[in-house]
Amino acid sequence: MPRYAAMTKTELETELAAVRARYDEMVARGLSLNMARGKPSAAQLELSLPLLDALDATADLTAEDGTDCRNYGVLDGIPEAKRLMATLLDDEPENVIVLGNASLTAMYDAMVRYMLFGTQGNGPWSRLPRVRWLCPVPGYDRHFAICEALGIEMIPVPMDEHGPDMDEVERLVAADAAVKGIWCVPKYSNPTGVTYSDDVVRRLAAMDAAAPDFRIFWDNAYAVHHFSADAAEQDTVLDIATACREAGNPDRYLKFGSTSKITFPGAGVAAVAASPANVAEIKRHMSAQAIGHDKLNQLRHARFLDEGAGLAAHMARHGELMAPKFDLVCRRLDEELGEAGIATWTNPRGGYFVSFEGPEGTARRIVALAKEAGVTMTGAGATWPYGDDPADSNIRIAPSLPPLEELDAAMDVFCCCVKLAALERLVAA
Ligand code: PMP
Repeated sequence: MPRYAAMTKTELETELAAVRARYDEMVARGLSLNMARGKPSAAQLELSLPLLDALDATADLTAEDGTDCRNYGVLDGIPEAKRLMATLLDDEPENVIVLGNASLTAMYDAMVRYMLFGTQGNGPWSRLPRVRWLCPVPGYDRHFAICEALGIEMIPVPMDEHGPDMDEVERLVAADAAVKGIWCVPKYSNPTGVTYSDDVVRRLAAMDAAAPDFRIFWDNAYAVHHFSADAAEQDTVLDIATACREAGNPDRYLKFGSTSKITFPGAGVAAVAASPANVAEIKRHMSAQAIGHDKLNQLRHARFLDEGAGLAAHMARHGELMAPKFDLVCRRLDEELGEAGIATWTNPRGGYFVSFEGPEGTARRIVALAKEAGVTMTGAGATWPYGDDPADSNIRIAPSLPPLEELDAAMDVFCCCVKLAALERLVAA
């Protein structure tokens, strides 16, 4: 198969007819496959079943500081859970507040507190004529949903292989005091798989901000989610807290994380880590919101993951299940689309996603075609604020959930849909 760009109109029409016939066959198969969300597979969830045995009616349910985990109390987390989450967030236990079951809730709460109360003596954001937020794109749709729900105006900033375009970020942040913050998924980013370079982290920490209360929402959701257990095959990211302190902006960041894709999504433990001033502020507000979070869950997570010491071995087992899926996705894309020269995609070393760039103006069509053939993808546009990908080209591929055989079938369909959408456009042009 030659590059599509080098084909004559007649050749393109012949190819279109062949691909359409193949697509019609696929529709007739009546598949039902799902690659929409980054959910762990059943095999991954099984890795954490011993968590359920970590606490039973015979277990000692007292935390090391004497707290009875069955009862009320302890707003910011039991010590052993703080150590676990500090390992995950690359921070010190005293800077960690252990929360409930989801980091997304923690991010929403943090944003709502800033809207209602402001931060560190600066007024509530909701009283300002407008609040703007930088959104590296492609990015995570649920981050964008938080901004949209609160009326925060989102400004897309392009991602490259080092992280967000820092020239653009620095320009926007210095020029406009309405720009109050930025979403960052610093490691194995959703969906590009990119890990921020040291230079990007240092520039984020040190840049001049017109807003004195500018905040980096550092969502390290994939901090330990490597495909390989070999350190040489793993990405590392500079610590934002250290970088901010060194740059003289110690309160600029909030780090978020959870065990969602380590143990059980929706039944894990989330945490925030921040500067002493920000920790004090969060605890002050939180004391009106909660008496404490689920300490039994904190205790069993701390025991199951050996307070963080067990993370690497546990994640290596996740990696063993994930690596073949990402290999398959990238191999199939290469085989089916490599020569046609119509698309590019990322090949990450961890995380949950492959970011796919098809020809301009085809993403919605590809996702619709796949749906009709029984393969549900993440909605086109989801990786952009307001669901609006101006080039209509980006699609997030989430290979974790389906077993390998199903993933193979789903990639067959996906690649066929990409070719069909691309050929339709080329023939119509
Ligand atoms: N942040 C990112 C970047 C994610 O990809 C996800 C899960 N898809 C989350 C947060 C959600 O985490 P949690 O379950 O802790 O709310």
